Parts: sequence; C-alpha cells; structure tokens
Amino acid sequence: MTFEELELDTELLAAIAELHYHKPTPVQAETIPLMLMRQDVLACAATGTGKTAAFILPALQMLLDEPRHSTIPRVLILAPTRELAFQTHKVVKQLSTHCRATSQIITGGFSSDQQMEKLQDPIDILVATPGRLLNIMSKDFIDLSEVELVIIDEADRMLDMGQGPDVNALLEAIPENFQGACFSATLAGTGIERFTSDILDDPALVEVDAPNQQSINVQQQVIFADSKAHKQALLKALITDESCQSALVFCNTKERAIELDLWLQSQKITSTALHGDLIQAKRLEKTKKFMSGKVKVLVASDIAARGLDMLNITHVINYDLPHRGDIYIHRIGRTGRGQQMGVAYSLVESHDIPKLNRIQYHVQAKLPVNTLPGLEAKTKVGQPIKAHKKPHKKKLAQKAKKSSKKPSKKKKTKKVRPAS
Ligand code: AMP
Repeated sequence: MTFEELELDTELLAAIAELHYHKPTPVQAETIPLMLMRQDVLACAATGTGKTAAFILPALQMLLDEPRHSTIPRVLILAPTRELAFQTHKVVKQLSTHCRATSQIITGGFSSDQQMEKLQDPIDILVATPGRLLNIMSKDFIDLSEVELVIIDEADRMLDMGQGPDVNALLEAIPENFQGACFSATLAGTGIERFTSDILDDPALVEVDAPNQQSINVQQQVIFADSKAHKQALLKALITDESCQSALVFCNTKERAIELDLWLQSQKITSTALHGDLIQAKRLEKTKKFMSGKVKVLVASDIAARGLDMLNITHVINYDLPHRGDIYIHRIGRTGRGQQMGVAYSLVESHDIPKLNRIQYHVQAKLPVNTLPGLEAKTKVGQPIKAHKKPHKKKLAQKAKKSSKKPSKKKKTKKVRPAS
C-alpha cells in the first residue's frame, strides 16, 4: 500500500514526502480509508504506530474535499495532556503546509486570555485538552456548532485522568451527526467501550496494534535487582554503557523522579526530572535540554512523559515497574520511534513480581531476562508466572452479547459518504 493508493490530494502527498514517510504504517493503511468514507472509527493503536497522521490526514482531506467559508472549527482533536496536544498540533502544521487549513491549540498551562484572543482568528482544526476548552466554552469564547469531525486521542489515558465528563460536556455543544474517531492504546478493561459507545456510531474497529504487538523496533529486557542500591548500580551501568545515547527513565511518582534525578547528578551523570507539577515553561526548557543532548537522562513520571515524541531516545528504563500493562506499553513506545531501534529495560525486585506478571499477561509474552556482568542479583527473585492464555473467543462473544443489552446510544445519525 502506498500513500498515493489512499487517494490523498497532492497537497498532502507533498507534505508526507517532506516528512520522509515512504509508506503508510498499518494503522494509517487501515484507518485512513475508513475515515475518508466518513465511517466512525475506534482504533486500538499504541503510541509509536503513526496514529497521529492516521487521523490528521483524513481530517485534512475532508477539508480539501469540502471547502467552506467557515471561520469556526470543523475538526476538533482532543488530547489528554498539553504535551500530546502540542505534538499533535505540530503534526497538523507539518501535514497542512501545502493546504490552506488553519489550526489553533488550546491547553492549560498558558494564559486563557491569550488563548481566547487567538480564537478570534479563523480556525479549521482545533487541538485542545478537554478541561481548558470546556473552561473557554463556558465563557462563550468558542463556538463548536460547526464541528463535523471529532477525534479523541489516547482515550484510555483521558479516562484514567478523569476527563470523561469534560469530554461529554464538550460533545453536548457539537451537532449530533458529527463523525467520530477514538484512538486508545488499549480497549481492555478501562471502560473505553462504554465511553466511546456514547460518542461513536457503529464504529469500525481498527486493531492493528493490539496490546501484544508492541513496536518490533523495541527490544525488551527484564533485569532482576536485590535492593535500591543494586537498582541504582544497574541503572548507572546501563546509562554509562556506550550504546546508551539518551535514556528516558521512569519512576512511579514525582518524589521518586526528583530523588533519582539528584542521585544521578551526584554520580556525574547529566540528567533532569520532568513531573506534572512543573510550569509549562520549565517543562519545555527541560524537554529541550534533553532533546538537544545537553542532558543524557530524562527522569519522568508517567503523566509528565505523555506526548513526548523524540526520535533519538535509545533507552527506556523502568526504574520503577508500572502498575499496569498499558502504561508499560506507553512507556516502552517512547523508544524505537519511526524506523529507529530502541531498548527497554525493566528493573525488577522481588516485590515487583505481581506487577511483572500483570505486564506479561497484558503483552501476552514472557519478557526475556538479562543480567549485567558483575551485577547479577544475589537474592532469588521468584520466576514470574507464565502469561495466561487469552480468554476463549466464544466466551468473549457471550460477554459482548450480555453487555450489548445496554441503553441505546445517545447519537444515532447514519453517516453518508460525500459524493466525490
Ligand atoms: P505517532 O504514533 O503518531 O506518535 O508516530 C510515531 C512516529 O512515527 C513519529 O515520529 C512520526 O513522525 C513517525 N511516522 C508516522 N507515520 C510514519 C510513516 N508512514 N512512516 C515513517 N514514520 C512515520
């Protein structure tokens, strides 16, 4: 499949060529034709799969196919965090270089007044985080009555962050027959299907990147550790190895990220910590330092790392193992971006074994265990339980049948493909 075969206009093909995308990724090849047919889509696609262009290209094609003289948004893209919103807006700009689509971004962390002022300009595509947009809408500074396409990115994370009610409140302001597309790293056990059933009308399911099919560019390894001191020694060895050019190190809390950052600096390793409490300017400054190679290590908590899209991260290191499989997948997807290779290490102490089992269950694979010479674990770390088998298809079908006896959806307008 080529981008030409997706029947995108030359303006978009030119932008794609400038980004050196040679052929569509699987999620792009599946999603773009569906969205061009004005079909609602529920896509299970982890970060790193090319999902952003998968929804921006059809949005831009819609604007090219049906030009209007509207000055208020026709496409609304919602993202859970400001970093992801900025990253998405950057891709909107890159892909719209050769067409006239206008775009704007609204997120927390900046002055509302300035953002409201920017809303006076014509806008085709609005990228926003739900909370700030709702706030601006409540002041009557934005009119969403001409939105035709709503895209919700990282819907699972949005639910995790408690943004579901804000999203629903925003959708109340949009005419009912909008086209919807939701992207989520996982569809399992997160209430995603209930959430999206109110938003999507008979959606096509795109599942090219199911939870057990993480990026093949990422080599995953578990290293067992005895204690905090042992973990620190392992971390230092991994980071100072010559194969490591830049490392994103994950901690489960802000406090642990700050503490680890200080420890790394005490070991003469250049590092900086990114966590949710920083003001936007500080976050950008730290991210830039890391991107430019001024510091080798970025220690981050999960929320702070959302939306980071850097091609040059060679190592992701789970200093703390995450509590959930989908978070693990998000974390390791920060390396092996585009065509590059990456490695993801997880440091595991014996008390982490239940978490490791959960992750292995989620990815449906046993993660390879490695040791570093001279730094082998001395205490016997229990071998993780084998990954469980997936539930039988028949059982899943029965479950789906039961859950389909839900109250009817809010929105039921059938979409019609525009005459070409
Ligand atoms: P995403 O999953 O949208 O965050 O994209 C992950 C990375 O893949 C980004 O760095 C994109 O620039 C890159 N990318 C997206 N589409 C393609 C493509 N068709 N070919 C090569 N790289 C791509």
